[in-house]
Amino acid sequence: MFKYLLIALVVIWLFYSPALRGKRAGGKPSAKADTPKAETMVQCAHCGVHLPEGEASTDEMGLRYCSASHRQAGPRNL
Ligand SMILES: [Zn+2]
Repeated sequence: MFKYLLIALVVIWLFYSPALRGKRAGGKPSAKADTPKAETMVQCAHCGVHLPEGEASTDEMGLRYCSASHRQAGPRNL
């Protein structure tokens, strides 16, 4: 019984701690993102090329693609 409460607390803590750290660190909201430090790299579900998350286009299933044409072509398992 107590175990589940502990797991729930850990999950809640994991969920909230990055958000709290982001609030503390995010003093300067930079409008111009000239040099993105470490943008998440995602893989195109069609051709497998890696690209920054911001440049990827996402379909309704949440899959990432490098271009609109690959998004239309759909996922392909290599
Ligand atoms: Zn692609």
